[in-house]
Amino acid sequence: MTPVTAFAGQTLALFGLGGSGLATARALVAGGAKVACWDDNQASRDKAAAEGLSVVDLATAGWSGFAAFVLSPGVPLTHPAPHWTVEKAKAANVPVIGDIELFFLERARIAPAAPVVCITGTNGKSTTTALIAHVLQAAGRDVQMGGNIGTAVLALEPPADSRVHVVECSTFQIDLTPSIKPTVGIQMNLTPDHLDRHGTFEAYGAIKERLVAASDIAVIGVDDEPSKQMARRRAASGKPLVKISGEQPLDEGVFAGVTANGGQLDTRIVEVRDGKPKVVANLAGIGSLRGSHNAQNAAAAFAACAALGLTAEQIAAGFKSYPGLKHRMEELGRIGRVVFINDSKATNADSTEKALNSFRAIFWILGGKAKEGGIESLRRYFPNIARAYLIGAASDTFAATFDDDGRVTYERSGTLDVALAAATKAALAQQGSDEIAVLLSPACASYDQFPNFEVRGDAFRTLVKALPGFEPVER
Ligand code: ADP
Repeated sequence: MTPVTAFAGQTLALFGLGGSGLATARALVAGGAKVACWDDNQASRDKAAAEGLSVVDLATAGWSGFAAFVLSPGVPLTHPAPHWTVEKAKAANVPVIGDIELFFLERARIAPAAPVVCITGTNGKSTTTALIAHVLQAAGRDVQMGGNIGTAVLALEPPADSRVHVVECSTFQIDLTPSIKPTVGIQMNLTPDHLDRHGTFEAYGAIKERLVAASDIAVIGVDDEPSKQMARRRAASGKPLVKISGEQPLDEGVFAGVTANGGQLDTRIVEVRDGKPKVVANLAGIGSLRGSHNAQNAAAAFAACAALGLTAEQIAAGFKSYPGLKHRMEELGRIGRVVFINDSKATNADSTEKALNSFRAIFWILGGKAKEGGIESLRRYFPNIARAYLIGAASDTFAATFDDDGRVTYERSGTLDVALAAATKAALAQQGSDEIAVLLSPACASYDQFPNFEVRGDAFRTLVKALPGFEPVER
């Protein structure tokens, strides 16, 4: 835990008693503050009270005595409308902050030079965060990873000069962190997402830009126009900038270059310093970093780890042993030439697109609760599909797309177990030299058949592990 001493002797209000809310309350109390905690949910309040935290009804409390108000990032600060607690805080002139703000305040007090890497962007945050943490750890660094991924930031060990914190930041979290000041700040990419919570695309981008603008070293992806403009503004400021790209050569920075190597495509990470390009890592054969989206993630991770003093050899070695994240194009293992991939996190067509673009012979299990637009946008990847297996409520909608397109043969499996059995049988019988994938990438929410995407992915993993002859991937 990182005890927060900045508010010792003072009282704060806190709303949202989920995992990060509880961790924050504990860290504040450990640092000598009093915390008036509240949540709409009775069970959450009971849990907090059971561990001795002070539960106070913030609707009726007097706000003028609070030194600050800690808001959970899941609760609306601005859009679609400020939460009632935010209105109360504003009316009483109480600053509204989040747990990462408390982390940065504490760092400023106890170890201002402690290295912190913050990662944001619309997509690839978790992968890049986990990859950076893994590479640093593999190189022998003392690493703490958390924020929007896994562990709440204040539940991590405290900042120290010899310890690197790698912190994934959602836009909501950045919005609650006025003192954010990472050693390395990464902005991956920017596409419309969560606009219901940020109003406009411009507002959403401006919040993300605050993270890189406040960084000692900014790492910015230049594969989309808004991020490219952020890089231009950073360059104009004269402060350190490393541009990264997953798809195009750069005259300076770190980019991924794809070259044909016999029947397969090799992705190499190229670092260009003082105009001189050098191949620094090869992603070929690294199952956890397949696909052009991961090329961007690897380029960002390379830039961050190099900025923290790792050698190219150390970073390349770390890439090789990266185990990947569960449920995101997770390679489970093989039966002969057939690789089994759990991409249960792909709950919409955009995410599934990345998986369909990463293999050439795919036995595709998809379906669930469809999102608007279904799989219409995926038609250009249909040539990669050897056969499709439909599960869940979306079966009719997706079958209609396949029927209309005419290129994909499919069957209505109904449930995941039936789909996997049929897909495995067909994949094992498939001829040819390409790598064959049995892929769960549903392009759908899971709620019609599973409580969430994790349970769906875990069910797939259990079924795959029980297949005769299956060899799990070594981690
Ligand atoms: P986030 O934490 O930003 O949601 P993740 O690393 O968890 O991102 O990846 C979620 C999904 O987003 C992946 O399954 C993949 O489909 C897609 N993705 C990952 N990295 C990128 C990237 N750099 N650009 C675009 N899409 C990506």
